[in-house]
Amino acid sequence: MTKTSVVGFPRIGAQRELKFWTESYFKGRIGAEELLENAKSLRKDQWLLQKKSGLDFIPSNDFSFYDGVLDTAALVGAVPAEYRALGLSALDTYFAMARGYQGENGDVKALSMKKWFNTNYHYIVPVLEDDAEIKISGGKPFELFAEALELGIKTKPIIVGPFTFLKLAVYRGAKTKEDFAQEFIAAYSDILAKLGEMGAEWVQLDEPYLVTDLDKADIEFFTGLYKKLLAKKDGVKILLQTYFGDVRDIYSELAALDFDGIGLDFTEGKKSLEFLRANGLPGEKLLFAGVLNGKNIWRNDYSKTLALLDEIKKYVPEENIVISSSCSLLHVPYSLDSETKLDEKYKRHFAFAREKLGELEDLKKLFESGVRSEEKKLRDNINLLDAKKQFADREISGKIAALTEKDFIRLPAFAEREKIQKEALALPPLPTTTIGSFPQTGEVQTLRTKLRKKEITPEEYKNGVKAKIAEWIEIQENLGIDVLVHGEFERNDMVEYFGENFSGCLFTQKAWVQSYGTRCVKPPIIWGDIRRERPITVEYGAYAQSLTDRPVKGMLTGPVTILNWSFPREDVSSKEMAFQIALAIRDEVLDLEANGIRVIQIDEAALKEKLPIRRADWHSEYLDWAIPAFRLAHSGVGPRTQIHTHMCYSEFAEIVKDIDAMDADVISFEASRSNLEIVDVLRREGFRTEVGPGIYDIHSPRIPSEGEFEGAIRRILEKLSADKVWINPDCGLKTRAVAEVLESLKNMVAAAKAVRKTL
Ligand code: GLN
Ligand code: ZN
Repeated sequence: MTKTSVVGFPRIGAQRELKFWTESYFKGRIGAEELLENAKSLRKDQWLLQKKSGLDFIPSNDFSFYDGVLDTAALVGAVPAEYRALGLSALDTYFAMARGYQGENGDVKALSMKKWFNTNYHYIVPVLEDDAEIKISGGKPFELFAEALELGIKTKPIIVGPFTFLKLAVYRGAKTKEDFAQEFIAAYSDILAKLGEMGAEWVQLDEPYLVTDLDKADIEFFTGLYKKLLAKKDGVKILLQTYFGDVRDIYSELAALDFDGIGLDFTEGKKSLEFLRANGLPGEKLLFAGVLNGKNIWRNDYSKTLALLDEIKKYVPEENIVISSSCSLLHVPYSLDSETKLDEKYKRHFAFAREKLGELEDLKKLFESGVRSEEKKLRDNINLLDAKKQFADREISGKIAALTEKDFIRLPAFAEREKIQKEALALPPLPTTTIGSFPQTGEVQTLRTKLRKKEITPEEYKNGVKAKIAEWIEIQENLGIDVLVHGEFERNDMVEYFGENFSGCLFTQKAWVQSYGTRCVKPPIIWGDIRRERPITVEYGAYAQSLTDRPVKGMLTGPVTILNWSFPREDVSSKEMAFQIALAIRDEVLDLEANGIRVIQIDEAALKEKLPIRRADWHSEYLDWAIPAFRLAHSGVGPRTQIHTHMCYSEFAEIVKDIDAMDADVISFEASRSNLEIVDVLRREGFRTEVGPGIYDIHSPRIPSEGEFEGAIRRILEKLSADKVWINPDCGLKTRAVAEVLESLKNMVAAAKAVRKTL
């Protein structure tokens, strides 16, 4: 009997319940007890749902109040001193690491947050200090296992593995990951033993780091860790789970170790099959075959998947194959059940987490079936995939085919433009600006809700938004900010807002996916060819500009980000999709320019997100079309128009040249959580684009003082010349409270002015 498994299930709740409860807790509206009780009921529903679907390996401990890596840090006691010193409860210490803390017990920043491999999910970067005492320090995996057992469900607990954890951690003192190895082996072996005693049969250790480029030292470190850990294993079976790619650098070592199961990704893992073919899978291991795409929302192509499983069967005995998702279903929305407005002609093409459980069940039956061709489920699936082909916009694909080299080049060259713009804009040195959005207060959200419920007319809505714009233009002028923004009050989401004005994009009501902590995003679905249907931002942008003499930035989302934050098609290339979107954004850029907007920001918040995990693929599979797509979007403007871009992270050290080649005039990025390390690289590489390293961490409710800002600016100026530097927050301010924003920006502007005087 073939079995089925998932690498993990979404945890935020079909209606984002967990988000709302947690945020209520943050605001003091509910207590810890209520939060914990609510979370428990959510888990119960999900386990029962998975059980009902027939899933054989039901995960536990995939639940988290913020992030699974942070959970693991708490589990093994990797809690830096400053958080312990706060003297808070375990739960609040955990939240302090996630979001920072400012209150009676002290003032500490949050730990840094990074993108989880090639996804839009963010993990909290663990910190190991020399005096960290690594041992079981939390109870979550045990409690959750017991909780499910009480419901009669023996789950497969999931824990981030020690290798991935130690590779992702930062080390504050003199100790290295090698120095921590013994302690981690001991802690993990205690965890496994404890789960075994409680009755766990399988434990899944997630080691996604194995799909990255590994060197000899990594391989030795991994095998060293696991040889010792596996030697101590007693009773409980270990599934070593990988995802987001293949394990080409370590396949034979992995296969030779005494794991009871190995999880391989056959969706993104280009070489998984090749390795299986060449090496087989020694021992009596189960192969958790990740054949069901855990990242995309299209119906699985059953014929293709069955062919793949048949091929796998040649190298692994059928009874040892477990049909699984390629990665955690955390990266897809809950269920199509909530989509009451999506036309059935589209809907039938999709499978969210819940529907994927059904697909696993189908695949299991079909895989075992003697005469597959007689199975209705298979025939229906073939017909469904066929039906998609009738949707195509020939004119758009024709336009893409006709593009030439010069469509991607902006003239005049950078240096000349820079001079022209400095004169035309006449800004002071170290110009201050913000990244785009201002707080989306209840008032703003109510406005949108009312429009949706038709309680106000579109005209009234528009006037409401304009009133907010006017309010914030005045606020910004009073604060003394140099380049203003209109505030993005009209957008719920920086991708959805554009997608709604594109043909070829589909929208959902509840298809939320966790991005970090309590923040979720609702990616559009790229269904067909993209075309801009109408001007999108021009009216509000021009209105904002009409209220002030200072330049107001037009605010757009870039083609690569729109693509990366959408669920992409599977029937055309990423390049084709990116160029189509770039042409749509290009129309918008030119319209803004024609309407008096002098500075246009094209956010590429997600550019790095889909950078292939393996270096060898960076250019050929990604940058070679992603960077040109951005250039295609802005290359049509005149020299006086200043093009900004923004990225939500600073780890682009390794692609600095490519970022410069985007040929924007100014770039802002996250830097405050990562200690401005990038600035050294920019200097070393002779980065040409002007830069605004974010000095206000907008993911935290903390308010930096004027002195703190001034210190950050001075540190930047030690490395970069003042005529290249902009002063701004890390990212948009939409999730922050108004009072925090006003106070922080006041301090930021004051600091910029103070430093300016000393130039
Ligand atoms: N302009 C956007 C904002 O300010 C940028 C958001 C982002 O980078 N994620 O909200
Ligand atoms: Zn950002």
